[in-house]
Amino acid sequence: MTAMHLTSAVVEQNYDQMNQILTLIFGQNIHNGYWYSVDDDTPLEEAQQRLTDLMVEKTAASRDWSVLDVGCGLGVSALQLAKKIGCQVTGITNSQIQVAQATQHAHASQLNDQVKFQYADALSLPFADNSFDAVWAMESLCHIVDRPRAVREIARVLRPDGHLILVDFAEREPMTSEQKDWLLTDQFVQFMLLDEVDNLLKEAGLEFKELTDLSWNIAKSQSSMLARIQQNRQYLIDTYGSEFVEMIENNWLKTTAIFVNHLSYILLIGQKAIV
Ligand code: SAH
Repeated sequence: MTAMHLTSAVVEQNYDQMNQILTLIFGQNIHNGYWYSVDDDTPLEEAQQRLTDLMVEKTAASRDWSVLDVGCGLGVSALQLAKKIGCQVTGITNSQIQVAQATQHAHASQLNDQVKFQYADALSLPFADNSFDAVWAMESLCHIVDRPRAVREIARVLRPDGHLILVDFAEREPMTSEQKDWLLTDQFVQFMLLDEVDNLLKEAGLEFKELTDLSWNIAKSQSSMLARIQQNRQYLIDTYGSEFVEMIENNWLKTTAIFVNHLSYILLIGQKAIV
């Protein structure tokens, strides 16, 4: 699977095609886990819920809030937020399959009055200005090359004083152009630069509030997910063929090396100015 440009349509096709295998590797949360230390043996799923709990804590929402989750995946984090706080949550994704599954999850957890999922492109959010009290972006900005536009869109739909809370990888040590090209065309990601963060917020009218480095906390994710691939290896070979499975494994090792050597995993918070 290669692509010349990282458009919303390319990312969409990838998530639709890879939905089953992604679920097998990541589980229902398509994001990293959070561990307290190297001795912490918490299973992946619980660690992933912890990362969402950290987002919930940082959001400090109240029951009467309305929160937008940009790039909501299968909706699990949005539901976790809604359940914990009692607020309204809207999740958007550019994958129809994810919208359908996330909506099923909302019904199954009887939160369908509180949480809605819809198909939308993060680059043109179908919402009025100032319509959300907070916006989340959990590992979704990495799929959007035009990050300034995405953050401007987020700032537009945020109410004055409202916060953007995001977690994602950011480039700490320069990568080679080969590595960047491979990540873009094969993994459909282009990470922000750590140095770019201030400007990204500022140009969208958001004030920088917090940047926390979680690289150590999420570090166990890659090996936990590789273990999932290995546990399901025979099933994967029977379903997709051995060549495909070897490619997935090799890619996994390649991304792990890039993550360790070049990227930081950050929690970033910006606040919309009051005008
Ligand atoms: N936040 C979710 C999913 C992370 S995976 C979780 O933590 O489980 C990245 C998500 O971003 C996917 O849902 C993908 O469909 C979505 N995404 C990527 N590019 C997008 C775009 N341009 N518009 C909307 N959603 C996008």
